[in-house]
Amino acid sequence: NHIKKYFPIKAGLLSRVIGHVKAVDDVSFGIRPGETFGLVGESGCGKSTLGRVVLNLQRATSGEVLFDGTNIHQVNRQENLKLRRDMQIIFQDPFGSLNPRFLVSDIIGEPLRVHLRASAKEIDERVVELMSLVGLDPSRRNRYPHEFSGGQRQRIGIARSIALSPRFIVADEAVSALDVSVQSQVLNLMMKLQKEMGLTYLFIAHGLNVVRHISDRVGVMYLGKMVEIARTDDLFAQPLHPYTAALLSAIPKPTPHRRQERIVLQGDVPSPANPPSGCRFHPRCPMAQERCSKEIPELIEVGQDRQVACHFPLA
Ligand code: SF4
Ligand code: MG
Repeated sequence: NHIKKYFPIKAGLLSRVIGHVKAVDDVSFGIRPGETFGLVGESGCGKSTLGRVVLNLQRATSGEVLFDGTNIHQVNRQENLKLRRDMQIIFQDPFGSLNPRFLVSDIIGEPLRVHLRASAKEIDERVVELMSLVGLDPSRRNRYPHEFSGGQRQRIGIARSIALSPRFIVADEAVSALDVSVQSQVLNLMMKLQKEMGLTYLFIAHGLNVVRHISDRVGVMYLGKMVEIARTDDLFAQPLHPYTAALLSAIPKPTPHRRQERIVLQGDVPSPANPPSGCRFHPRCPMAQERCSKEIPELIEVGQDRQVACHFPLA
């Protein structure tokens, strides 16, 4: 609710604060139990920061995060430990996020050692089980990450993230570094695990095509703001925000005669340290009118399960 995350910009020898990067600027949204909520936007729009704030890996500047109705910033030590088990993250880089000096069995078993103080034998049994669950050969558990392919390394990261049987997982660009064919295998694995374990996902990606098959609903971010939230099918059938329409038009269509005009956005993404007035998208928006540079459009309900932040929504 009303999440803001501002990073100070420091300058000079005295590191004086000369401004703030408004990475996330007053964002409210909800994720329902068992669903996959896709979160998309160009790099620098604040989606990763929002994911980290939701997990309490980063403290929000203001606003609150509720998990099952509990404010995750106001829990005692014991509740916090439980939350840490319930909420996990899968990172983008299957290379950088796995310690190259650790055996795969140590990497997957680490959360069990830290959180459950499990014995070596218990950990080994669970690692075998987890590796089978994510489609890895458990007999390779005492090898190093570099002996595995990119897709396999992402499976190692997934095995680690589900080791403590969490309920909620943030996947931050979990498949972005992988080849397209490997991407769909990892997405299928994530959907299988979701069904079997009753998981809820916040699935972060920069492109809409990646979130399409896995997401029940999609939120689109632009420069620290949520600009549209809709059911996936509705969003693809009829985007209401001009920015969503531009993102959609960038996806190559398989059927050439149904191709819509590609909307090419003018200019670069402005800096989140100094965002444009009014609607932050107005300098690049093909639909912009005078009002757009003056008034900030609020994210409002415009239909069943549908919200948009635009003075002149499409449709
Ligand atoms: Fe474009 Fe105006 Fe809508 Fe912003 S409010 S997206 S500038 S039409
Ligand atoms: Mg990111």
